[in-house]
Amino acid sequence: RLNTAAALEELVTPSVQIAYTQHLIDGKFVDAASGKTFPTYDPRTGEVIAHVAEGDAEDINRAVAAARKAFDEGPWPKMTPYERSRVLLRFADLVEKHSEELAALETWDNGKPYEQAAKAELPMLVRLFHYYAGWADKIHGLTVPADGNHHVQTLHEPIGVAGQIIPWNFPLLMFAWKVGPALACGNTIVLKTAEQTPLTALYVAKLFHEAGLPPGVLNVVSGFGPTAGAALASHMDVDKLAFTGSTDTGKIVLELAAKSNLKPVTLELGGKSPFIICEDADIDKAVELAHFALFFNQGQCCCAGSRTFVHEHIYDEFIEKAKARALRRTVGDPFKKGIEQGPQIDPEQFEKVLRYIRSGIESNAKLECGGDKLGTKGYFIQPTVFSNVTDDMLIAQDEIFGPVQSILKFKDLDEVIKRANNTRYGLAAGVFTKNIDTANTLTRALRAGTVWVNCFDVFDAAIPFGGYKMSGIGREKGIYSLHNYLQVKAVVSPLKNPAW
Ligand code: NAD
Repeated sequence: RLNTAAALEELVTPSVQIAYTQHLIDGKFVDAASGKTFPTYDPRTGEVIAHVAEGDAEDINRAVAAARKAFDEGPWPKMTPYERSRVLLRFADLVEKHSEELAALETWDNGKPYEQAAKAELPMLVRLFHYYAGWADKIHGLTVPADGNHHVQTLHEPIGVAGQIIPWNFPLLMFAWKVGPALACGNTIVLKTAEQTPLTALYVAKLFHEAGLPPGVLNVVSGFGPTAGAALASHMDVDKLAFTGSTDTGKIVLELAAKSNLKPVTLELGGKSPFIICEDADIDKAVELAHFALFFNQGQCCCAGSRTFVHEHIYDEFIEKAKARALRRTVGDPFKKGIEQGPQIDPEQFEKVLRYIRSGIESNAKLECGGDKLGTKGYFIQPTVFSNVTDDMLIAQDEIFGPVQSILKFKDLDEVIKRANNTRYGLAAGVFTKNIDTANTLTRALRAGTVWVNCFDVFDAAIPFGGYKMSGIGREKGIYSLHNYLQVKAVVSPLKNPAW
């Protein structure tokens, strides 16, 4: 077993250079209008990695003007779909070529294990752009057999300038989920990155220009939410807004969109997803999957299986094994081989997770292992497991967004369905059983945008993702995402011109 204490010492120096720190507007890297910059930090140490341009309303105005011009004057929306598809494919090739630098940059800025970034996330990024490149020339309307003597057709047109605001937990994948479908449909974009992780989006946006994307089609602005983010959400010349982040901020941007120009909004928000382990489950496999469902990406997943419901007949054995698995989890410098868990993203999230751990202890959940920070620098937290968690506890209701597993006991299916659905969220759910009837009952009864059966966190470019209830509005990925970025125009003309 890898020694965690040793893995926190002598940190690896990342081999990648920081090449881009300015905004990318109209195909050029430019300083902030105000000249201001802000630091982005290495979560392993809290030390500054680089200073990046700090965008505010004026930078958003400039980026939106560039995107507007690129949309209204072209060539992007007027290029043939095949030409657009070729740009997306060339971009995917360039990402593949630069995957090592990109994975290193992602790990440095975010703290996620390098192996995860390099072996899972970068290939998914490439795959997603291949997928949407495939859609670019397959978007078309219908011929509609309306009553009366009319020829009726629908045109599926790009919606215009898309404003996109992304979070820090999967900086590159969130970029891909938003940019892929928007470009395939012929839109232009202003994307605001999360202030914690501005670096990789600037790098890939540069690659997009190398791939032949015309200037102004994709503009990337770094900056904070209440300034740059709010300016984008309330901009009168932005035709559509896509947001991923917390539910509280989702409410703010929806209001800003409504109060400005009523731009349509898609929201991917928080979750408190149940993972239900039935009596017939193979316990060792269930323990491993439930562990992955919660601890993956330092527990910083919107769809984390953060309420582990376990049937009473297997509960005690499950707890022992879940605890043993958490104790075996390797925590340390995410650049080192074999490390499963790096630091949390920043001091705010780190403190928030530690507060939730204290709340779990105070509300008499049983702390099986972990429960504290790790090391003397950076934002590392011990993998933590609570048993005897009840539905009324804060740790069973709020999104913790950290490496804290809450295990709850249940007796029968009707009971667990009610309890699993008793949440303001509805992003995802997991079910572990060998019984097809149980699986069918649960998949239909659970009010969540994704239900994984005997698996978890399976993300394919073609599979739609999004939330019920306060987990969001709309779906990303797959064919569903295209609808977010298209307008439908009905064109009606008489079959025989009455003037003749
Ligand atoms: P956050 O909502 O504070 O930030 C997300 C983004 O919104 C950032 O770019 C931020 O700068 C911007 N923002 C903040 N305030 C804003 C404002 N007033 N106007 C406009 N933009 C603003 O979220 P966070 O706490 O940094 O991120 C974690 C949260 O994101 C978690 O709750 C998690 O569940 C959620 N999340 C959801 C998904 C999903 O797909 N559903 C994916 C990742 C993260």
